[in-house]
Amino acid sequence: MNALLEFARSLSPAQAALLLLGENILLFLLSLLLGYGLLFLFRERRVTERPDPLQWQEVTLAGTCVLLNTLVTLAGWFLWRAGLIRISTAISWRIALDALVLFVAMDLAMYLFHRVAHHRLLYPWVHSTHHRYDKPRPLNLFVLNPFEVLGFGALWLALIMVYPATWYGMLLYLALNLIFGTVGHLGVEPLPRQFMRLPLLKHLGTSTFHARHHQDRDVNFGFYTDFWDRFFKTLHRRYVQTFGRLDPQPSAPQKVG
Ligand SMILES: [Zn+2]
Ligand SMILES: [Zn+2]
Repeated sequence: MNALLEFARSLSPAQAALLLLGENILLFLLSLLLGYGLLFLFRERRVTERPDPLQWQEVTLAGTCVLLNTLVTLAGWFLWRAGLIRISTAISWRIALDALVLFVAMDLAMYLFHRVAHHRLLYPWVHSTHHRYDKPRPLNLFVLNPFEVLGFGALWLALIMVYPATWYGMLLYLALNLIFGTVGHLGVEPLPRQFMRLPLLKHLGTSTFHARHHQDRDVNFGFYTDFWDRFFKTLHRRYVQTFGRLDPQPSAPQKVG
């Protein structure tokens, strides 16, 4: 792995940009493969109505998101070369600890930023794009307002600047982030209903959990867990009850913003 980082350090900015674009396209395709694979396997377990036919606008926005993610990754490369982001390739217990710290820290930070993004003054500028889709499909993970992509990217870079995580810990967290994001936009629920009875695990962010946020903008702001929604009393009232099923009353009266 040291050799890979040495190679990354030796690249010119243009070469790094091209390589990171390839990496981001690959992650995008992996997410779609996982998402549409799960959608096919669990097609009988819908938690939202079927989405409307795909629009060109969604494809364009998703493409823009991949380009902006590349920009964020490239900014990370520059920060790493400048010594502002430190990466250790050591293999130790720190890997699991780092993944957990990043998971918990980003879960809280994204909950808070997500609630701020729903403020009526910011919502139309930074977050309404993602909410055009109340019946999500896997592609919608990437259908975001450009400001939002850059905002989440900046949050991530700021975190790894103040918390020098190990390389594998970071990769583990990023893999989890992609899996949770993909699963949240399936529109079907792969997990059995019994999942809601498992101690601790039942608090993880599921497909049903994020689907409810797309249906009702006043609930379920969390991403990886429902802890913060429980703590701040924003959890969807029928979340556990309707887990893995269509919500019989999906569109609660929605405030503008
Ligand atoms: Zn979403
Ligand atoms: Zn939202």
